[in-house]
Amino acid sequence: MNRRAFTRTMRILESRYPVEDWSRGMTSFEVLISTILSQSTTVANERRGFKDLRSRVGMITPQRIAGTPEAEIATAIWHAGLAKQKAPRISAVARALQEGRGDRLRRILELPTDRARLELMALSGVGPKTADVVLAMAAGHPTFPVDTHIARIARRWNLVRRTDYETIRAALERWTPPGKRKAWHLAIIAHGRALCKARNPRCGECPVRRDCDWYRRRRTRAQRSRRGTSPRATKD
Ligand code: SF4
Repeated sequence: MNRRAFTRTMRILESRYPVEDWSRGMTSFEVLISTILSQSTTVANERRGFKDLRSRVGMITPQRIAGTPEAEIATAIWHAGLAKQKAPRISAVARALQEGRGDRLRRILELPTDRARLELMALSGVGPKTADVVLAMAAGHPTFPVDTHIARIARRWNLVRRTDYETIRAALERWTPPGKRKAWHLAIIAHGRALCKARNPRCGECPVRRDCDWYRRRRTRAQRSRRGTSPRATKD
């Protein structure tokens, strides 16, 4: 897919999937905790873990979380999965951010994007994806977070040859205007959930299939095999 096709595709997806901003009404710290909880789990389980944590501690603030024993956090977030790994991360991040009357996160998010990203990634348990989600969703920084749906679709669209996080992010940021990154990030995720699933993508219903490399490759293979001209058939 070239840049023109990518822009055309994204315009179609943007109009098809209304923006569902899950971070609306949340504090930046809540966005951070929610993103840590979302690692390796489904949206439904993350939401449940987040809700249970909120019920357990009252308000999700650095001070409240830092003052809650790790075992209690692990019990509260059990539904989000990997509770024994996530609870120490959540505790560590809360302890680090409670310094300076708890507004350290706000100060980080006021920095220029690259500096803010580095500061976030210096926190224990915060990797590039978590940092990018917090930057984009909590503070409107022009990052393009890459989740599992986006990584899969970027490969299907042949946007990247390498499959590491930074390569995919750089490719998407290169072709996406800064003001569109959050909306397009959400649109691709919505498309991955609705149609472009990991197994059995519903290409027949897909509004962007004319520009999709994966679809075209599959169609060509199917046509060849119908005509008996696939490389294997010719060889045999
Ligand atoms: S055509 Fe299929 S593989 Fe391509 S974007 Fe649509 S659903 Fe995904």
